[in-house]
Amino acid sequence: MDLNSEVKYLTGIGEKRARLLEKELEIRTVSDLLHFFPFRYVDRSKVYSISEICDTASYVQLRGVITSTKIVGEGKSARLVAYLHDSSGHIELVFFKGIKWMSGRLVTGKEYIVFGRVNAYGDKYNMVHPEVEPAGEAATQVTGASMMGVYPSTEKLKSANITNKVIGKLQHNLLSSLPSIPETLPREICRTAGLMPLDEALRQIHFPRSQNELKAARFRLKWEELFFLQLGILRQRNVRTKGSSGLVFSRVGEAFNWCYTHLKFELTGAQKKVIRQIRDDCRSGRQMNRLLQGDVGSGKTMVALLTALIAVDNGYQTCIMAPTEVLARQHFNSVSRMMEGSGVRVAILTGSSKTAERREALEGIVSEDPAKKIDILIGTHALIEDTVQFSRLGYVVIDEQHRFGVDQRARLRLKSATLPHILVMTATPIPRTLAMTLYGDLDVSVLDEMPPGRVPVKTVHLGENRREQLYAFMEKQIAAGRQVFIVYPLIQESETLDYKNLQEGYEHIIQRFPAPKYITAVVHGQQSNENKQYDMDLFASGRAHILVATSVIEVGVDVPNATVMVIESAERFGLSQLHQLRGRVGRGGGQSYCVLMSGYKLSKESRRRIEMMCATTDGFELAEEDLRMRGPGDMEGTRQSGMAIDLHIANLSTDGEILTSARHAALGLLEADPLLSKPENRPLREHLNALKQQFIDYSTIS
Ligand code: ADP
Ligand code: MG
Repeated sequence: MDLNSEVKYLTGIGEKRARLLEKELEIRTVSDLLHFFPFRYVDRSKVYSISEICDTASYVQLRGVITSTKIVGEGKSARLVAYLHDSSGHIELVFFKGIKWMSGRLVTGKEYIVFGRVNAYGDKYNMVHPEVEPAGEAATQVTGASMMGVYPSTEKLKSANITNKVIGKLQHNLLSSLPSIPETLPREICRTAGLMPLDEALRQIHFPRSQNELKAARFRLKWEELFFLQLGILRQRNVRTKGSSGLVFSRVGEAFNWCYTHLKFELTGAQKKVIRQIRDDCRSGRQMNRLLQGDVGSGKTMVALLTALIAVDNGYQTCIMAPTEVLARQHFNSVSRMMEGSGVRVAILTGSSKTAERREALEGIVSEDPAKKIDILIGTHALIEDTVQFSRLGYVVIDEQHRFGVDQRARLRLKSATLPHILVMTATPIPRTLAMTLYGDLDVSVLDEMPPGRVPVKTVHLGENRREQLYAFMEKQIAAGRQVFIVYPLIQESETLDYKNLQEGYEHIIQRFPAPKYITAVVHGQQSNENKQYDMDLFASGRAHILVATSVIEVGVDVPNATVMVIESAERFGLSQLHQLRGRVGRGGGQSYCVLMSGYKLSKESRRRIEMMCATTDGFELAEEDLRMRGPGDMEGTRQSGMAIDLHIANLSTDGEILTSARHAALGLLEADPLLSKPENRPLREHLNALKQQFIDYSTIS
């Protein structure tokens, strides 16, 4: 029997139960079973008296005598009711299943230890299907633990009678028959991080002797889990950068300087800092993989452009990829405008590019002819089609990265002989702990400073009954020369329903805000690209006062004159999405507003989200809250990264400190042995490889 043995060979399991354990809990080996941890513990050293019970839904342990049993009802509704008495009172124990067997076990006059969850039933309390054991044989006495683990379970397991008690017994038998479980971490690391040995930790996590020991065991196991996660990610980075020498952009020349001197504003300190970081990366001889985080409006595009010009100055091409057609066009327009007269040639390529545009782009990126050659190509997903081949691609900028799959990023890399430098830009603030994990192998820059003159957006929450008040407010803003966004949620399951909401909203608006006094543009997913572009332009140029849209405008659209963002059915949006939308206003000077409209009935979470939005404009704070509320699995960044963070015990939203410590240790280890090739690190490497197959494919993260 060792850690890799299959559980089906354990006493009391067998083929059938083994299949069920694998199917329901992904437990196949002894090691899997040992790593199946209780999710909470009940204190079984404490025996309650029945009169103390006042809280339903809590688990309690009672000790008492069965005074009588009876079967109530008939056929399907039959149930066994037993009365348990102690010196303070009595409680009903109810059994719907196994009535015969149970009534045989419950002997009137005998003393039992009863453990279960208390329910309120009329004005009485009862317990349904509690664990009942004769007082002399209780499980706690058998295992010697005072705290009993409660393991996750499923309906199927329960009906196959694999109860919590059964799992506990399995763990107990296993731990008593296994010799000491080999340590997975180097001794030195255990010592500096203050970790309990693995063998001890696994025993304590299942059968803790005390709260303190449980705490130490959990710490050790979380630490280990995060350590291997980080070690995998960081080693992957070493594998990638080793050998693949980066392009060297040694100079800053005319293109950069031309743009810099033509800027209409002073760069923020943060922009300067990040440009310097990128410049240093690009001349270091290593290939750059950098994530640029910056809240909406922090000026990421400028950073992208100026650094693209460094590539141009060194004879390389840049491609800038945006997540939507609208955004790509907007980037193209503003970049071409800015670079007019500089000699730098810019082109666009999107899915809806017409033949001429297409030809200009495709010929331009392979041409040596100065009149044709393209230095900067801006576009959408169309850029990663196979037909697009650059002659000298040196720099790739991916804007609003979370819209791109890992896959697509990988394909971009194949666009030129040498790996280009890569800058990934995102406006979705990612909590630090998550960034370390999702993008652990990227270097991270943060634009943590807004261009001057930004006034924080005021956010209010209005119910349907105050709609007229909203409209009066919009009238005032429009009269003052401002523009208004109205956004409807995108309902993924039903594009038609989506469209209906938006269409009704739109019709409502054009009645309330009639032409010609008011011009209202509309943008949604069911439009042709041309219509979409036409209406976007109408709004962007200031000719339309109102833009009614689905959340397609979420990313990037820059209309500084818009000062009001109305979000309809705000309860349907996630926090980060709400924050993104709000970032569309407050870009010019002057006060901007975000109005969250919602129905009356709100779930607790929706209410919390809306309250958070009204309370802060700090994207990182909102992201942290989002992580706390939803957990890492549902975070925008996680889902889109294509990576399953399947952690057993650690929690990215609460274990930030452990993560930092584990990452630090992993970095230290890799500094001395970048690829873990030294003999003493062999066990680590092997363990890592085994884990890797189990849950994360680090190689897909970039
Ligand atoms: P992001 O992509 O980070 O959301 P953008 O790059 O679209 O932000 O910039 C938002 C707006 O701020 C744009 O209109 C841009 O021209 C302007 N801007 C960028 N940098 C500065 C700066 N340093 N000072 C003033 N305005 C700036
Ligand atoms: Mg942007």
